[in-house]
Amino acid sequence: MREKVVVPGEELGISEEYSSEENTYEDEDGTIYADSVGIARFDDDNREVRVKKNSTVRNFFPGSIVYAIVTGVRKNRVLVNILSAEKNGEKLVVNRSMAMIPIANVSTEFVRDLRNEFRIGDLIKAEVESIKPFGIRLLTNKPGLGVIKAYCSKCRHPLHLIGRELKCTNCGHTEKRKVSREFILK
Ligand SMILES: [Zn+2]
Repeated sequence: MREKVVVPGEELGISEEYSSEENTYEDEDGTIYADSVGIARFDDDNREVRVKKNSTVRNFFPGSIVYAIVTGVRKNRVLVNILSAEKNGEKLVVNRSMAMIPIANVSTEFVRDLRNEFRIGDLIKAEVESIKPFGIRLLTNKPGLGVIKAYCSKCRHPLHLIGRELKCTNCGHTEKRKVSREFILK
């Protein structure tokens, strides 16, 4: 049985795949949503989806680890969309997804221009520094944090980390990033 942490309004599937059980609802198009914070249980044998309400599921907080997609890169800051969050293996609810990494938070080494370190579409692993009403700030200047998957800017093929260089095995182009040691393709 597949399980995931969900928030109200999160899409769970369609009525052709599952019947809508406890703490879920279906709209007129047959899309099924969660109506509560909790753990969604996808029972593929019986084709049922339900949400077990869980008031102990927490929102993400400063110190949480997040996975995010880069949506914008300026000289001095990177804009990202947070996909998921966890702390010590505990899944956390991402109740706000837009976040920013200021240049000072990116690396322990001197960084002149973030356009040399990140590109739109990169998948990154980062830590939450602060959550304020006007914005969420992340950092990547700790071990294991940074870009974990990236795509060739010439042909969009996934890049491989070879030595300290990112190389496209399709067109041969090489690129630079603020790479995490957890980079996925080696
Ligand atoms: Zn390429």
